[in-house]
Amino acid sequence: MADLPFHDRADFEDADRGFIAALTPGVVKSVDGDVVWDNDAYDFLKEDCPRTAHPGLWRQGALCARQGLYEVTDGIYQVRGLDLSNMTLAEGESGVVVIDPLISTECAAAALKLYRAHRGDRPVTGVVYTHSHVDHFGGVRGVTGGGVPILAPAGFMEHAVAENVYAGPAMARRAVYMYGPALPRSPEGQIGAGLGMTVSTGTMSLIPPTAEVTRTGQEEVVDGVRMIFQLTPGAEAPAEMNVFFPGRRALCLAENATHNQHNILPLRGAQVRDARAWARYLTEALALFLDGTDVAFASHHWPTWGRERIERFLSRQRDLYAYLHDQTLRLLNKGLTAAEIAEVVQLPPELEQAWHAHGFYGSVSHNVKAVYQRYLGWFDGNPAHLWEHPPKDSAIRYVECLGGGAAVVAFARRYIDENDLRFAAQLLNHAVFADEGNKEARDLLAEVYTRLGHGAENATWRNFYLMGALELADGIVPATADRPETDFFAALSVEQIFDSIAIRVDGPRAWHERLTIDWHLTDLGRRYRTSLSNGAFVQQRDPRDDGAADLTLRLTRAQLAGLLSGKGVEGVEREGDTNVLRRLVAVLDHPVPDFAIVTA
Ligand SMILES: [Zn+2]
Repeated sequence: MADLPFHDRADFEDADRGFIAALTPGVVKSVDGDVVWDNDAYDFLKEDCPRTAHPGLWRQGALCARQGLYEVTDGIYQVRGLDLSNMTLAEGESGVVVIDPLISTECAAAALKLYRAHRGDRPVTGVVYTHSHVDHFGGVRGVTGGGVPILAPAGFMEHAVAENVYAGPAMARRAVYMYGPALPRSPEGQIGAGLGMTVSTGTMSLIPPTAEVTRTGQEEVVDGVRMIFQLTPGAEAPAEMNVFFPGRRALCLAENATHNQHNILPLRGAQVRDARAWARYLTEALALFLDGTDVAFASHHWPTWGRERIERFLSRQRDLYAYLHDQTLRLLNKGLTAAEIAEVVQLPPELEQAWHAHGFYGSVSHNVKAVYQRYLGWFDGNPAHLWEHPPKDSAIRYVECLGGGAAVVAFARRYIDENDLRFAAQLLNHAVFADEGNKEARDLLAEVYTRLGHGAENATWRNFYLMGALELADGIVPATADRPETDFFAALSVEQIFDSIAIRVDGPRAWHERLTIDWHLTDLGRRYRTSLSNGAFVQQRDPRDDGAADLTLRLTRAQLAGLLSGKGVEGVEREGDTNVLRRLVAVLDHPVPDFAIVTA
């Protein structure tokens, strides 16, 4: 920690450069008066770092907590600190093009209002979504009702909704641990997420793009704003692109180069990203755009000005992801397992001295495990790990072997005294999983998690530890009420609708069900067949018209989505045994939005 480059103040200069005005107070509310964003709650980060935080993370929090409207360069502005992400505004001939309208409509509207207060009442004449993560499109209805060009990378719509369809409920639960919205904002509590402060909690929306960017080098002009795109799929997001503004000598790096080490696999869970491709895209961005660029910015954090500094920043970011990838492969090919690699990989000194390579969001530890997972998966090859008991069953046996719950707590205290908090957490986790009523173990584990959190450089680690401590003390934090997600339902493809039914089938309950339904989507002119057998609900497009269906339904896509959200079959033309729908619904299960994490 003594080696952290605190002498380097460039980030503070860059984060403040071009400041025009802040939103005062720094609070955004919904129409019902609920606070959906409160940046003022982070005012304490202006103080010196206390003992309850890692000084590097405290510094990052202080930088991310800056809030307001900033000029990036002539004609390009950013609103920062009004959500997890930034909203960028590129001025055109008659209005302004919005790049990445935040998570919530309320925050996006507040950001646009702040911009207009200082740059005039320009209409929004276009929108660009740089990628398929919700913090880059969810607020769109706060800046436009549609009817303007909306550009997005190829595959955007599929991926924008796919995460909500498949592992959405589990990710949402884990995201509460990752971002810590339920934690108090305080020197002992939540001090940011590394990438920004936290996620806003307003209304999410989605307007489908009017045009897709399908190749690198594609050029588009919206309201006189010329943009050249570089597609970067499979790196930070499955559908993503950088945007170059030749007329402004400005490069938007989406989320491919930010002022922290990003995630190869975020702790909330996701499909593993490709660190190798990530590095290659940054090499390509340098080759394509560096000569024409005076300022580089992203949809998180602050810009970097000057050709030399941009080149240094991008090449170090590139080296960072390449290094994580290549070193993990080198070591796994020598037989090291993921946990072993995580223990030995260290960044080169030059990257250690670059704040933007630090693990405030991703970390060397969990990123190299992600690279391992991408190539070799969960199994480390050791047969002892092939068929382990699940956590609770293991815990009961460990505690038994160690002489009971009280003995485990005593052992844990010994490791705490030796400052081995990591092993103390392992031991105490066994004690709690074996017996949730072991209050001494629970309290001590909460204390250990708190200390681990306070020592963590990584914001998402800190939030995970502190959320664990919170739930050990107070019980599970109930899931917040579902956000209105009408746009997301509307955006589901027919295939995704059937997929979302398939993953809700309770296998054993459906073992002996067998049914076939034909769906004629009258507005799309498409036919699908779904069949349930052996607990598997499968779909097929354009089935043979062989009369094999138990039931045939003629309906619109909207009616199909309505069926899914429980609206019933009114107005749907049916032919055959309508009972099969009831039988299908009878085998559907429901996700649990607030499952246990730190208890069994
Ligand atoms: Zn983002």
